[in-house]
Amino acid sequence: MSTLFSKIIEREVPADIVYEDDQVLAFHDINPQAPTHILIIPKKPIATLNDLTEEDQALVGRLPLIAAKLAKQLGFADEGYRVVMNCNENGGQTVYHIHMHLMGGRRFTWPAG
Ligand code: 5GP
Repeated sequence: MSTLFSKIIEREVPADIVYEDDQVLAFHDINPQAPTHILIIPKKPIATLNDLTEEDQALVGRLPLIAAKLAKQLGFADEGYRVVMNCNENGGQTVYHIHMHLMGGRRFTWPAG
C-alpha cells in the first residue's frame, strides 16, 4: 500500500529533505515537536517494526547512524537529542512506513514528552 512517505520518496508530495542516499531519505517533520524534528525513513516500504525481517537488519541499522550524523551536522549531538520509533496504535504510529524521529534543540523528559 502506498503511504504518504512513499509519495515523498517519489517526489509526489513535497518535503524539506536534508539527507538522501540510495536506501534512506530524511526530511523535516511537518509538525515539529522540537526545534529540530527530522524523520529518517528507509526507501523500502516496511509498514511497522513488526514487519521487519532479518534481511532488513543492515538497512534499519543505518537509521541511527544517519540520525547521529545529522545531529552532529546540525550541532546538537553533544548536548543530546532523542530518537523514537513508534509502532502501531498504542505506540502512536500514524504513518505506516517505518521511520525514526530525530528530535533536538531542547531538553526531553522521560517517559513522556
Ligand atoms: P508517527 O506518528 O507515525 O510516528 O509519525 C508520523 C510523523 O509524520 C508525524 O510526526 C507527522 O507530523 C509527520 N507528518 C505527517 N504528515 C506529514 C507530511 O505531509 N509531511 C511531513 N514532512 N511530515 C508529515
